[in-house]
Amino acid sequence: MNEQTKQQIFSFELFPPKTEKGMENLKTNVQQLQELNPAFFSVTYGAGGSTQQRTFDTVDWLVEQRIDTAPHLSCIGADEDEILEILARYKAQGINRLVALRGDLPSGTGLGGLGELNHANQLVSLIRQQFGDYFHIEVAAYPEFHPQAATPQQDLQNFKRKVEAGASSAITQYFYNADAYFRFIDECQRLAIEIPIVPGIMPITNFAQLARFSDSCGTEIPRWLRKRLESYGDDLDSIRNYGIEVVSDLCQRLLAGGAPGLHFYTMNRSAQCQQIWQALGL
Ligand code: FAD
Repeated sequence: MNEQTKQQIFSFELFPPKTEKGMENLKTNVQQLQELNPAFFSVTYGAGGSTQQRTFDTVDWLVEQRIDTAPHLSCIGADEDEILEILARYKAQGINRLVALRGDLPSGTGLGGLGELNHANQLVSLIRQQFGDYFHIEVAAYPEFHPQAATPQQDLQNFKRKVEAGASSAITQYFYNADAYFRFIDECQRLAIEIPIVPGIMPITNFAQLARFSDSCGTEIPRWLRKRLESYGDDLDSIRNYGIEVVSDLCQRLLAGGAPGLHFYTMNRSAQCQQIWQALGL
C-alpha cells in the first residue's frame, strides 16, 4: 500500500442471509475478505424492518469477531421509537458507524410514505439530535440520480439536505461510467458539499440479474458493456473474467481521479472482490 491508498477507505457490503447455509457461506467469505484489511463491513437492512432479526444476527456475529461493522438502517415505515431502540442497541454494542437510508417502499404503497420519517435527511437529523456526534453517518448518493428524483437538480439539493442534517460521508449507488461519478463530484463541489463520496462498486457475475437490478435502481449499463455481456450468453466464466477486467479498470480510474476509497457490493461473495483487489495492487 502506498501513502495515498493508506488514506483511502475500502469497505465491503454484506446482506443478511436467509438460511444457516447462507450464514456459513457469509462467515467463510468475510474471513477471506478480512485478509484484505478493509475499514469496515456494512450489513443491509430490509425496508420496513423486513430483515431486522437477520441483520441483527449478522451484525452480532461480526461484532463478536471484533470486525468494524456499519449496520444499514432504513426509516421508511418505521416509527421513531423503534429507530431509537435499534440505535441504542448498536451503541451498546460499541458500533459507531451507520449507513442511514430511506429504504424502498413496498410496491403498491404509493409515494406518500408509511411512517414518521419519509426521507433519509429526517433519519440523519434524528440520529444527530439523539446521539450527537457519536455515530459516523454514511448516506447514499446517486451519480446517475435516484430513479424517483423529479430532476437531477432536485436530487442534488436533496443530497445536500442529508449533508446539512449531519451526514459524515456518502457511498454511491453502483455505476459503470466513471464520468457520471466525476461530474457528480464536480456538481457537489459547486454546492459546497464537502463530505467524502465513496464510489459503490458492483462486481459483475450474472448479467441477467445485474440487468434486472440495474433497471430498478436506475443504474445504466452502457451499450458497449451490455452488448459484450449479452454475447457471452450462459458462459458465466467469460462474464466474470470480462467483469473483473472492466470493474478493475473502473476502480483504477476512480482512484486515480481522486475517489476517497471504494465500497464493494460483495453479494456475500469474496472471490471477485479479491481478484479486483489484486488487479488494483492494493
Ligand atoms: P433519500 O435520500 O430520502 O432519497 C429518496 C428520494 O427522495 C430521492 O429521489 C430524493 O431526491 C428524494 N428526497 C430526498 N429527501 C427529500 C426531501 N426531504 N423532500 C423531498 N424529496 C426528497 N435499501 C434498503 O432497503 N436497505 C439497505 O440496506 C440499503 N442500502 C443501500 C446502500 C447504499 C450505499 C445505497 C446507494 C442504497 C441502499 N439502499 C438500501 C437503497 C435505498 O434505500 C434506495 O435507493 C431508496 O430508494 C432511497 O434511499 P435514500 O436513503 O437514498 O433516500
